[in-house]
Amino acid sequence: MRFLIQSNLLTPATKTIEQTKRIADIPNLLSQPTNSNFHYNPDLQSLLQGKYLLLEEIPFSVEEVHRHYINGYCLYNKGVEKRRDFYCCNRCGNANQHHFASFHCARCKEICFYCRNCIMMGRISECTPLISWIGPAVVQKTKDAKLQWKGQLSLGQQRASNKMEQIIDQQSELLIWAVCGAGKTEVLFKGIEKALKQNKRVCIATPRTDVVLELAPRLQEVFPDIPVLPIYGGSEDKQLYSPLIISTTHQLFRFKQTFDLIILDEMDAFPYSYDANLQYAVQTARKPDSAMIYLTATPNKTWRKKCQQNKINYVTIPARYHKHPLPTPQFTWCGNWEKRLEKGKLPSVIIDWITQRIHSRKQVLLFIPKIAYMEKVKTIFEQWTPHLETVYAEDPFRKEKVQKMRKKQLDLLITTTILERGVTFSNIDVAVLGAENQIFTDSALVQISGRAGRKKEYPKGDIVFFHYGKTNAMTSAKKQIENSNKEAKEKGMLI
Ligand SMILES: [Zn+2]
Ligand SMILES: [Zn+2]
Repeated sequence: MRFLIQSNLLTPATKTIEQTKRIADIPNLLSQPTNSNFHYNPDLQSLLQGKYLLLEEIPFSVEEVHRHYINGYCLYNKGVEKRRDFYCCNRCGNANQHHFASFHCARCKEICFYCRNCIMMGRISECTPLISWIGPAVVQKTKDAKLQWKGQLSLGQQRASNKMEQIIDQQSELLIWAVCGAGKTEVLFKGIEKALKQNKRVCIATPRTDVVLELAPRLQEVFPDIPVLPIYGGSEDKQLYSPLIISTTHQLFRFKQTFDLIILDEMDAFPYSYDANLQYAVQTARKPDSAMIYLTATPNKTWRKKCQQNKINYVTIPARYHKHPLPTPQFTWCGNWEKRLEKGKLPSVIIDWITQRIHSRKQVLLFIPKIAYMEKVKTIFEQWTPHLETVYAEDPFRKEKVQKMRKKQLDLLITTTILERGVTFSNIDVAVLGAENQIFTDSALVQISGRAGRKKEYPKGDIVFFHYGKTNAMTSAKKQIENSNKEAKEKGMLI
């Protein structure tokens, strides 16, 4: 797209003529004076407010959008910004020059640079405007939204919930460090209700689509008066207005200064923890005056340090909701198991541990470091049971296999780190084969250990890290779990 410029007024040009420019080449983009008599389109308002969208993402004509621009209700923003000799993407914040590429653009008839980093959301190049809303804000009426939940919070949950309410008033930041199985979702209910009662816009963001799918119906159930909107890669109705959005961190690229309260769940999970652009997406989706809640069972070293040095408000929930201590992992040395596996064998200490459980019909969740080993390991244990499966991230039958495990139809489920979090099986034992592998970070190992003993009826479970050399990650994971148990005991949170 090219624009004709006449004294600060841009007009989409239909033909490529010399007097027109691409948006990236226009030095100052000013808004037009607001015409208060203009009858704006409320559907466009609720769609666009707090967002930066491509024209293709707006289900109204270019003429309609342009009318709003002329009357001071919309703005054309640069998608890709050229700053002297480098490029920057205004949607995803990418400024890494290796993540830009150029092509012969049919739209502007020039060599056009585009952002490769957020291309999955539609291409943004030098001639792509991002449309934003600068008219009056949607009047959100959620002051009567009521939390419909009759459950009881544990002592730890209650403390975190109170703290969250304070933070919402103060518009500051809080880290909730809750052990696996603490019941962190319930902790959020009161705070969300409070924000809604103040007509605030709330977002729960998470790196994982699975979590969006799980949380959205849960929140809808307890807040029946408002529409809860799930947003993820393939979701429909992405552009509806909702006072409570459950979104993947990726999808937040479209939002700018939108939310009064953002709750970031699993901040330590892949890919958020490794992707500066996703962190940018979350930060830019916040309003300048807003509250931010970070939620995690396994904060990384940097965050743990921040807590120790009191550089951030934080609250811990060291006990599970069922008030039993977290099962702690055992370390068992098993020699060079990879070498043995090449010959289709495994160290007897592992074989014994697993077959014992197969015989006593106690289910085992076995984590292994590489997909390539899965079939070999499976073949070995097929000698003892036909009821076993392997599962990994791209497995098309992932859901079905997890379901089979839940229904107790399997003796053994062999998995990669994909099941390290987010799943609950009752009454299982957990083993890690090759715990020394670097894929098993301390967070991963804490999460893996967190799969055992989750249910009130079966609060115990064995966890063994079979290893060929103890690592710092293993020791750190064990220490974190022991510390949580110690803290929970001191605070009287255990039965
Ligand atoms: Zn172009
Ligand atoms: Zn980008």
